[in-house]
Amino acid sequence: MELWFTEEQTDNVRFSIKVKEHLFTGKSDFQQVDVFDTDEFGKVLAIDGLFMVTEKDEFVYHDMITHVAMATNPQIKNVLVIGGGDGGTVRELVRYKGIEHIDFVEIDGLVIKASREYLPITACGMDDERVDILVQDGIEFIKGKENVYDLIIVDSTDPIGPGEGLFTYEFYENCKKALTENGILINQNESPYYEGNAKEMKRAHKKIKEVFPISEVYQYILPTYPSGHWLFGFASKKLHPVRDFKPEVWNSLGLKTKYYNTDIHVGAFALPTYVREMLDSE
Ligand code: SAM
Repeated sequence: MELWFTEEQTDNVRFSIKVKEHLFTGKSDFQQVDVFDTDEFGKVLAIDGLFMVTEKDEFVYHDMITHVAMATNPQIKNVLVIGGGDGGTVRELVRYKGIEHIDFVEIDGLVIKASREYLPITACGMDDERVDILVQDGIEFIKGKENVYDLIIVDSTDPIGPGEGLFTYEFYENCKKALTENGILINQNESPYYEGNAKEMKRAHKKIKEVFPISEVYQYILPTYPSGHWLFGFASKKLHPVRDFKPEVWNSLGLKTKYYNTDIHVGAFALPTYVREMLDSE
């Protein structure tokens, strides 16, 4: 009998992948974690029935969540990653020799454990000696921190369950305090396409815009996320991701990437008119 994993993307849309083997299933205090093996997308990590990472397209997400900020400020030394339990974001960060320390704060030890076992392709950077793995709630962790991080990456699930508080005004205020003068905040900013995601996208952007003087949104194409059209937020007290970007500095590092390049960096901030209008209307 054929086995398919189906994500309910909206009440009217489903996305399914044929499964070769259901490798892992477990329930933590926070969520349901599953790993599947598939012919088309390789191994797939799902949380609460939603696609998180697939071996085939994770490079898009992890390139865009890390390199845009790192290329805007190549001096970044101290980093906080909240969420991202699969390790893909940390894997990209540890490629930068200039980074001295990464606090990797993931609320769910089960996601880290399952990723280490079944997704070494993303988890492989976690053992770098500059990485401190802290199994904690990022919302609590950030409280009271001042002028510590050059970069905060919020690699979170959607604004439901444990991820909900990562989309609040108070959380963004705490991030601003925790950042250094040139600090950058990158956040998972949902999708403009389907109404449910778009509502969250607008809410997140509206709040970040109120907190940070520089707040932009950039896009990327991820086949396994609803509609395939997804966004990250870029916020900073001082640095603009396009005006302050020096492509030649990043290119001189000689890092090989499969999705990110310095043209995509600039192009990703050029948003379709309907997305601009949505963001401006907030
Ligand atoms: N690429 C993914 C996506 O958007 O579909 C996100 C990947 S990552 C697996 C998301 C992680 O955020 C999960 O492992 C989840 O446990 C973690 N997370 C959710 N809320 C959190 C919180 N409050 N503090 C720290 N980690 C959190």
